[in-house]
Amino acid sequence: MNKTIRVLIAKPGLDGHDRGALVIAQGLRDEGMEVIYTGLRQTPAQIVATAIQEDVDCIGLSILSGAHNELFPEVMKLLKENQADDILVIGGGVIPDEDISFLKEHGIAEIFTPGTSIKEIADFIRTNIEEKINKQSRPASVNKIDHIGIAVKNLDNVIPFYKDILGLTYLGMEEVKDEGVKIAFFEIGGIRIELLEALHQESPIYKHIEKRGEGIHHLAFEVENITEQFSRLRQRQISLLQDHPKNGAHGTKVGFIHPKSSYKVLIELCEKS
Ligand code: ZN
Repeated sequence: MNKTIRVLIAKPGLDGHDRGALVIAQGLRDEGMEVIYTGLRQTPAQIVATAIQEDVDCIGLSILSGAHNELFPEVMKLLKENQADDILVIGGGVIPDEDISFLKEHGIAEIFTPGTSIKEIADFIRTNIEEKINKQSRPASVNKIDHIGIAVKNLDNVIPFYKDILGLTYLGMEEVKDEGVKIAFFEIGGIRIELLEALHQESPIYKHIEKRGEGIHHLAFEVENITEQFSRLRQRQISLLQDHPKNGAHGTKVGFIHPKSSYKVLIELCEKS
């Protein structure tokens, strides 16, 4: 791996002893990592802000005061709220065995108790960051074309063309209020054709027709875990139209790739319920 791993060593809470934290910080530097140390008595909010600002790969929380069960989960919560929960978080200090599983349930990847060697900690960080990078650089896994969306001004005018002239199987109609559309569904060879009519002038379909006229609107791929595909795409600097997947027709979860990232084709990913 070529990337230099950046680590934030942080001291949450009120205890005033940082000899252990400083030893770890220096030890990880000796292992070739870039290490930033927060200093004593940091709040979870300060730690998370520093981690994001410094764009670290890993946060090492060190604590002796016994307040780990409150402070560590708080750090994890704030990371999630700031969409920074891809940062690896490990903990160390005086932490009783019975608290370790509780902390791991809250997303702390590992707890290192006194006596652990720096080498062990460094190896753990390296292995995890490498795995994460490998995982994130995988392509999005799309299974098949699920449907093709076609923008139309008036469903009643267009339905007979697909139904009676082309002879496609007509599956019925559904309104998707969230999208401001009424959809007529057809099926051909396991792929759906969706005719999309705007319900009102705020509908993206209304705007599409105003700008480009009727015609093909989007191409939809079926995926298994849309949230994971979103994060893989983001890692590849692909722009998405939503931060999070939303509800589509038939109880699906859907999200769109911004056409500027997909050579002008609006691409939808959809996960079946
Ligand atoms: Zn669609």
